[in-house]
This record gives sequence, C-alpha cells and structure tokens, in this order.
Amino acid sequence: GDGAKVPVLVIGTGYGGSVAALRLAQAGVDVHMVEMGQDWATVAPGPDGKIHPKVTSPDYRSFWMRTRTKQPVSNFLGFPIDKDVPKHAGILDAEDFAGISVYQGRGVGGGSLVNGGMAVTPKRENFGDVLPSVNAEEMYATYYPRANAGLGVGQIDPDWFERTAYYQYSRVGRKHAERSGFDWTFVPDVYDWDYMEAEDAGSVPKSALGQEILYGNNHGKKTLPKTYLAEASATGKVAISALHRAASVTPAADGGYQVVLEQINTDGDIVATKTVTAGKVFFAAGSVGTSKLLVKMKATGALPGLNSEVGQGWGENGNVMVGRANHMWDPTGPEQSTIPCSGIDNWDAGGAFAEVAPLPTGIETYASLYLSITKNPHRGTFTYNSASDAVDLSWQTAWKQDSITMAKTIFDKINSTEGTIYRTDLFGGYKIWNDQLTYHPLGGAVLDRATDNYGRLHGYDGLYVIDGGLIPGNTSVNPFVTITALAERNIEEIIATDLA
Ligand code: FAD
Repeated sequence: GDGAKVPVLVIGTGYGGSVAALRLAQAGVDVHMVEMGQDWATVAPGPDGKIHPKVTSPDYRSFWMRTRTKQPVSNFLGFPIDKDVPKHAGILDAEDFAGISVYQGRGVGGGSLVNGGMAVTPKRENFGDVLPSVNAEEMYATYYPRANAGLGVGQIDPDWFERTAYYQYSRVGRKHAERSGFDWTFVPDVYDWDYMEAEDAGSVPKSALGQEILYGNNHGKKTLPKTYLAEASATGKVAISALHRAASVTPAADGGYQVVLEQINTDGDIVATKTVTAGKVFFAAGSVGTSKLLVKMKATGALPGLNSEVGQGWGENGNVMVGRANHMWDPTGPEQSTIPCSGIDNWDAGGAFAEVAPLPTGIETYASLYLSITKNPHRGTFTYNSASDAVDLSWQTAWKQDSITMAKTIFDKINSTEGTIYRTDLFGGYKIWNDQLTYHPLGGAVLDRATDNYGRLHGYDGLYVIDGGLIPGNTSVNPFVTITALAERNIEEIIATDLA
C-alpha cells in the first residue's frame, strides 16, 4: 500500500526478477515484486473456457493495450489476418519503436508466459563474445547448470520425435538442412516433454499440440510461476503486486529509494498512485523496460548520477524470420507442435543459428518457417524525448540487412539444393524477410559499463540491474538461459557482499 517500506523492491517478474526474489528470500530477506501485467493464475477464463487462447484465435487476452492484433506472421496465402481487439492488459506486448517492434511477455512470469521455452546454453567458445567481462569457467561450472536445473530444462525423446506427426515439420527441416551439409541439432526446452507425449496419446488436454504458445500455454510449459516464482512464494517472504507499474525511482531523504507505482486496471487506466520506500531496488523490467526507466530517470533528474552508458548497447539478437515454399511431395504436416525442438547451426561459418519453427495453422501449408538468430553487429541507443515524455530507440530497420545476409548463408543454399523458393505470402507486401521485429531484446544497461561487473548501477548504492538489459545485444542462441544464469551469478555475489 501507499507509504509502505520494504527492504527490497523488484521491478518486473521475468527471469532476472524471479531469480533475485528467490535467492534473496532464501537468504532471509523480505522481497516485494511489482509487475505491470496481470497475474494470469487469477484471471477468469475467456469464452473458450480457458485462460489463454490459441495462437490461431487472438482476442482481448492476447495483446498488451493494442486495438488491433500485430501477429508476427501477419498474412496467410497473401491475405492479412490481423484484426481489431478491445484494448486490454493482454499477455503479449508488440512494443513499437521507429525501426522495430519488440515483442515481450506481460504478466507475472514475464517472457516465460509467451515464449517458445527453447532453453539453450551458448557454445562455450562463443561465450567471450556474449559476456566479455564474465568468467566463463564459473558460468559453465556453476551458474549455467544452476539455471538449467531451476528452469526445469529437458530434451525431447528422440524416438518419439521420429514417430509423432506433430514434428513432421521439424523432420523436414532436418532433411533439408542435412542435404545441404548443415549441422542440425535438437534444442532443449522447458516444456514438459512427458506431458506433450501424453497430449499426443490423447490422455491429457492439448496445449503445445493444441496451438497454444504466443498468447500463453494452459498446460505443459514450465513457466516461471511454476518454477522460480513457485519456489520463491513457498518461502513466505515474497509478495507480488500485479497490475502495478513502476513509474519512477529516486533517492529517499532518509536513505533507500522512493518508488512511485501506478496501479492500473485491465483497460490501462491508472486507478491509484502509490509511493513506497525500498532499501534496495532491482530493475528487472526486461531490457526495454529497465532501459526506459533508467534513461528517463537520468534525464529528468530523478537519478542524475547514472553514467552515460545507461541506454547504450541495445541489440535484438539478430532476429529475422523467413518462410520457404516446399514441394507438394514434402508436406510439413497440418498438425504441428508449437514448441520448436530443433535448430540449424551455421554460426561459425555464416553467423546464423536458425530455429526450425512451427506454423500451427491446422492445415497443410507446404511452408517451412524459421526464426534465425544472427550475429548482427549493430547496436541501438535509448534516449528520453522530453517533448513526448517517451523513450525513443535509435534502431533502424535497414540494419537488419546484415541479419538477412547471414540467414541467407543457410536458406539460399537449402533453396538451391532443394529447388525451392522463399514464401512471399506470410509477412504482407510480398516481403520475404520479417525484418521488423525481435523476440530477444538485450542490453541498454550493459554489465561492467552502466553497472559494475555484478549489476550494481554506477552512482547509486542499492540500485541493481538483473535482467536482459545487462547483456550487450547478442547471446548467439536464445537468451533466457543466459539471462537466468547471469542473474544467479550476480545475486550470489550481491547477497554475499552487500547484505552481509
Ligand atoms: P522479461 O521476461 O521481459 O520480464 C520483465 C517483466 O517486467 C515483464 O513481465 C514486464 O511486464 C515487467 N515490467 C516491465 N516494465 C515494468 C514496469 N515499469 N513496472 C513493473 N513491471 C514492469 N527466449 C528463449 O531463450 N527461448 C525462447 O524460445 C524464446 N522465445 C520467445 C518467444 C517470444 C514470442 C518472445 C516475446 C520472447 C521469446 N524469448 C525466448 C525471449 C525471452 O522470453 C526473453 O529474453 C526473456 O523473457 C527476458 O527476460 P527478462 O528477465 O530480461 O525480462
């Protein structure tokens, strides 16, 4: 409530925030978390009787405060499929900046609510590029294993993979990759693979096999509310306020920090403004959320002592999407698991790692869809715009050309081997490449630059960054395992040193 004093306030309930809350609580500290999105575990089911709708039928639950859907695959057979929806505190934010739309999860659990659950540890030899100031030996010996255990990472049963109709698209992806000489690999995931096999057997309600993913999974996925946050809440020392947005942080007169919170309703109206005092504040609002807060606080004089690295070093993990048109004799299957389980690795030779992605429409599409992670060298900067009271991002769409060039090292070759072409009917305007989005925002409060080497913000004792904002723009693979492992490393040091 208004006027409350808490030892630790955590802004955001994604990976970084959940790790911080659990480990602080286990160390005996009372933690209060604020989350601008909804607590989906308490939300009433929709007209389909479920909390989360299918990816094929977005509605008011699907998008964060938009009046029209913005589906990543926006067209089908050339026809636009976006539609009007009521403005609502939905689960997926497609946050528009001038040169890119940044997709993010909204709600208790952050990105874990909407993501594909692909839980990939970077190859050790690439780690120096991912987090240059971090000791790789410690990460691979201690913190990556701890993160994988905490997240519940597992692997598909290779025998079931060969049998099930739901991964035909992935087997076709493998065949095409291997015929062109690329390394194809299984990718670990936090989806409960036993549950998925039971879905296939028809003994439990379908989720991954029932077209649920982008707007939430009703079953099967080990999201943060089922892992880190469940453990945190079992300590009895963690409280979460949903539909509370942190609006400002400034030093309090008698020590600690004053945090202004805006409580909103599901229409987005502010229904109360509260001021709380916190001994320590952890920024865990995600790369974009944390960067926006810090850049604004620095520019408006709330936290003028933050250094000039704040807002810098933002990257999009080189994300780019493409579809290939398969021959009629190479169908990918009408029924597809929404959880990707494989990738094509051409990182060393071509700077691209491509997920073999599903297109779970319920009908045969003869398309192979891929989301590539590429070594895009460009980095954007967040700046506060006082005229609009908004934070702008300098990313330019044209910078994605580097990503396209890298992704083409895989797909031009596959097309030439297979005698196939790119699809032009999936992203509108005959576009081949979806170069206007990212699922993987990283950076803006980079480790060892905006903060010290453990996430302590320069200029202010007791302010920390502990989310994807710390990572300088690229993880070479899907990012959440690295975000989690880095948070595990940093919170251990912070508990040992700053709370002793
Ligand atoms: P987040 O998980 O984004 O959490 C930040 C939280 O803070 C959010 O809940 C947000 O609502 C809240 N917040 C923001 N601002 C405020 C504020 N001012 N006040 C209060 N709360 C606030 N990664 C993978 O590794 N594998 C995948 O398969 C994968 N698939 C993805 C698919 C999609 C569609 C998307 C969108 C992402 C995917 N990702 C994937 C990326 C992954 O989800 C993110 O990298 C990860 O969630 C980032 O973690 P975080 O802790 O930095 O922040």
